[in-house]
Amino acid sequence: MLAIHRNEDVALDSSLRRYLEQGIDSLCNDDPAIADLLEAEHQRQMRTLSLVASCGGTHPSVLATTGASIVNVTAEGYPGRRYHAGCTFVDKAERLAIQRACTAFRARFANVQPHCASFANHTVMACFLKPGDPILGLALDQGGHLTHGTSVNLSGRLYDARHYGIDAQGRVDYAQMRDIAHAHRPRMIVCGTTSCTRTIDFDRIREIADEVGALVLADVTHIAGLIVAGLHPSSIDAAHFTTTCTFKQLYGPRGGLILMGRDADRPSDDGKRTLSQRIQSAVFPMMQGSPEVHTIAAKAVALGRTQGPAFAERAERILANARTLATDLVARGYEVIGGGTDNHIVLFRVPEGITGEIAERALESCGILVNKNKIPADARSARTASGIRLGTNTVSLRGMGPAEMHDCAELIDEVVRATTIGADGAFSLDGTTRASVERRVQALCAAHPLPYAAMANA
Ligand SMILES: *Cc1c(COP(=O)(O)O)cnc(C)c1O
Repeated sequence: MLAIHRNEDVALDSSLRRYLEQGIDSLCNDDPAIADLLEAEHQRQMRTLSLVASCGGTHPSVLATTGASIVNVTAEGYPGRRYHAGCTFVDKAERLAIQRACTAFRARFANVQPHCASFANHTVMACFLKPGDPILGLALDQGGHLTHGTSVNLSGRLYDARHYGIDAQGRVDYAQMRDIAHAHRPRMIVCGTTSCTRTIDFDRIREIADEVGALVLADVTHIAGLIVAGLHPSSIDAAHFTTTCTFKQLYGPRGGLILMGRDADRPSDDGKRTLSQRIQSAVFPMMQGSPEVHTIAAKAVALGRTQGPAFAERAERILANARTLATDLVARGYEVIGGGTDNHIVLFRVPEGITGEIAERALESCGILVNKNKIPADARSARTASGIRLGTNTVSLRGMGPAEMHDCAELIDEVVRATTIGADGAFSLDGTTRASVERRVQALCAAHPLPYAAMANA
């Protein structure tokens, strides 16, 4: 009896659950400086209203996975073909992640190893381009990403990048893309944006690319969840390569994916390997060393959570919430870029007399998190900007719906209207407005806790 008891104790003491609990305990004892910061950050997330479009929110099961001891495995290579022993379980985890990525995106091929979306983009480019090759991407100040050929980024330094923009209706300017493509003859057209609020026509982009013999890289980071839920046309078959991060609309860990559809098995121009085989060796060994196996396991958890009614319902709510915010802001007299939204993002011009930067700071002082953003033909720099970008991923995760979005629009309006630029150049907002808005933000957050808090209270 005693021996059995002892064995059970040993099993309990060495179980992962116990190990993680011990980790938290020892962190609090041994390193209170960091433990306090982590707790403070956790509390901050509970108490602030995040309308930052690039934010999601990780489920605690994803957090637990990234904290698991699977991290200790060095696993260079791919499942079944590793350069190290001890990979039985990480191989299974990576295979599950690949399977779930392919299922979620209805893709034929997935590489789940990229450390982030930026690396995924660099990897696809370096795989098929030589330094100096022409590429075409959306301009940074029109909503493109740094890695789409911006001059300050490696992608802009390595390749000869040209840029297209967004038209007056807030849509990708396909006519301009086509004109530049015919003049510049890019080897790759990069699409996907950080602030475009309108549906992207990936088929049209592929047509333009086919006219000039270019490859298409669709970086769908911002709309990945909508694509999975079938609420935005998919890039998987239209583009040769689709990349995304896993921490925004997929609510997963920090990391990236490279996905392919109908072009996966197409021969590449080296005459030997297919496009997807080239991608495999571009991720490892060309770009990266050992993969983050704990993150890959967490990607599998997050991708698994996309299957089922909860994710689909939330994706619907993301859209309904953004539409409500846009409609309310227009009704309150704001210029919403493009007149509305087809996705989770709402971009609006701040009133005369203040900048996006000032509005962002004033809103933050009340617990409302947004980000300043350039708007089409913005005379201001990205540091000050004339617009504010809102996104509904996090409020939708908290279970808020259109009723709460009416409150959010009202609170934003109240703060922005009452904000001025003080003599010192900082924002100035009267104490009464700040206190009352802050109180209402607290009430909204308390009524709609993040999933972790809801579970803790249950
Ligand atoms: C956020 C974002 C990225 C960056 O993702 P990381 O994983 O942080 O590198 C890349 N592309 C687009 C369009 C983004 O919005």
